[in-house]
Amino acid sequence: MDNFEIIVIGGGHAGVEAANAAAKMGCEVALVTHKESTIGQMSCNPSIGGIGKSHLAKEVDALGGIMAIAADSSGIHFRTLNSTKGPAVRATRIQVDRSLYKTNIKKLLLREKNIQIFEASVEDLILKNNHTKGVLTSCGKTIKASKVVLTTGTFLGGIMHTGFKKKPGGRDGDPSSTKLARKLRELPFKTGRLKTGTPPRLEGQTLNYKKFTKQPSEIPTPTLSSTKTKPPPTTVDCYITRTTKETHKLIKNSLNKSPLYTGKIKGTGPRYCPSIEDKVVRFNQKDSHQIFVEPEGISTTTIYPNGISTSLPAETQEQLIRSIPGFEDAKILKYGYAIEYDYFDPQDLKYTLETKFISGLYFAGQINGTTGYEEAAAQGMAAGINAALKVKNKKAWIPERHEAYIGVLIDDLIRFGVKEPYRMFTSRAEHRLILREDNADMRLSEKGRKLGLISDEAWRGFNKKKEQSKREIERLKKTTIQPNSKEAGELYKQTKENLKAPKSLFEILKRPAVSYQKLPKKRNLSKSTIVEVEAETKYSGYVLRQEKEIKKQKQNRQTKIPKDMDFNNVIGLSNEAKQRLIESQPKNIARAANLPGITPAAISLLLVHLKKH
Ligand code: FAD
Repeated sequence: MDNFEIIVIGGGHAGVEAANAAAKMGCEVALVTHKESTIGQMSCNPSIGGIGKSHLAKEVDALGGIMAIAADSSGIHFRTLNSTKGPAVRATRIQVDRSLYKTNIKKLLLREKNIQIFEASVEDLILKNNHTKGVLTSCGKTIKASKVVLTTGTFLGGIMHTGFKKKPGGRDGDPSSTKLARKLRELPFKTGRLKTGTPPRLEGQTLNYKKFTKQPSEIPTPTLSSTKTKPPPTTVDCYITRTTKETHKLIKNSLNKSPLYTGKIKGTGPRYCPSIEDKVVRFNQKDSHQIFVEPEGISTTTIYPNGISTSLPAETQEQLIRSIPGFEDAKILKYGYAIEYDYFDPQDLKYTLETKFISGLYFAGQINGTTGYEEAAAQGMAAGINAALKVKNKKAWIPERHEAYIGVLIDDLIRFGVKEPYRMFTSRAEHRLILREDNADMRLSEKGRKLGLISDEAWRGFNKKKEQSKREIERLKKTTIQPNSKEAGELYKQTKENLKAPKSLFEILKRPAVSYQKLPKKRNLSKSTIVEVEAETKYSGYVLRQEKEIKKQKQNRQTKIPKDMDFNNVIGLSNEAKQRLIESQPKNIARAANLPGITPAAISLLLVHLKKH
């Protein structure tokens, strides 16, 4: 028998962050996972980051997590998405070497002496009076702990489909968790089925690269971690090709063989990462879709064709692939498949990710209805931190929506629940000008340090950057450029911007055509400091407005709601919102705002009503 303070079930993206965070906070952690060799495994695309997702990865990094460091040190292709748009929606994306990523995650995890890894399948939870006491594994072993973080991804009741062939499985090559799924279904949680899928993998040496458009890695290399982790020296090129009219015709003619379109798959799939059959049917007017041709690593020739996830039968996949330019002679190494799995309604969770019904039991990752490695890592971090805080009888950590995308994610999940796999986007954050990827460390590292998650070295690096950008912004405010001066001439040459009156460098940098590098009297600063200084300057007006709004919202949260309030009289409130409020009778706006299904718009209507009456 083994006694721990926290058990983490699952060594996926949520599990490793939960174990790492809890161990760093001084807890004895057991990480129980099917296979040590699949710790940090990427079930689908070998990439970290992207729009909204890089924000989460950088926040996890700012809190001392490992995802961003592993991605930087395993990267083979680096890009900044939305690079021509504002800093709030800019996003770093790193294509990684799939195998190296796993190795690096494990290395980082093993740095923590408080983590013990058990290779086993958890089959049962040991519960007493609705409190967690431990777990029982497939080899009959009992592991005890008062806190259990469940991060089982797509494994609970997992069924894999290729055409009409189906088999139980958690993902390719791994078993599904059937017994644990059965146990969880007996508990009073609301549960449902979701679906996701993956494309066939191709032998890179059989592709005709002349037919593709090359997409080289970006220089200088954008990275995810603020710890200055060095990327490997070699990068690879990615490529772009497209589906054709023939591909679409083939898919339309094969829908009678699709488990999706013949009702064999019941679970709802990800709206923003649909299968190719879904794209062809839903966007009927389009006769071509983009495919990114992505190498899976340096020492493998396997290619991940991003954009054609499918569960059509193997023989149809062969035809489908051959209809795509450059893939005419492609050898399929593995067929694509779809997977259906159990998820649990996140509305049954507290904001700490502890379940409402079982004390000490936390859910994080895909089990809560999300999709994506970064969404999973963010929840793993939050659950690991809160489980550790509970072990130590300390106040919970609940990031608010204006503090972090992690706050937006958890709030969205608990407030609205999920009807389809939830993916993060910058558009989900109403305070996105404040929640940029470039300032994730500025927003969260101090909290991370207080929680015991940030090493002395990382803390020194953070303070250096903070001090540098603060000093630089002060210098920009104090340095004035005169019209007709040598510097004004330099500015015109670089940007075609004229100065009609004396202006500070700070005011000049606010102009859309001016970047830090084009400023006269610029300094030699690190790239991350320049990004931070630029964003803080350009957005200063909006940020100030958002901060005022947040302050007002905080004050509004204290507004009391009278006991005899008739919510039916609130004009404009939806029936669902009215019903929730009537059922819960919140005593103030803060309580009302935390109710599931109550939107910021509903809160505004409530405030208007309270002010009027
Ligand atoms: P996982 O990474 O799945 O990790 C779960 C871990 O739990 C594994 O280590 C497993 O071995 C372990 N485990 C499970 N049950 C037990 C048990 N009983 N005992 C011990 N250990 C257990 N996301 C996207 O964003 N885009 C996509 O296109 C996409 N496509 C996907 C396609 C497929 C086929 C699959 C399987 C997933 C796909 N995903 C996609 C989802 C992505 O893989 C997940 O979002 C992410 O891996 C979730 O992380 P997690 O930590 O919650 O779970």
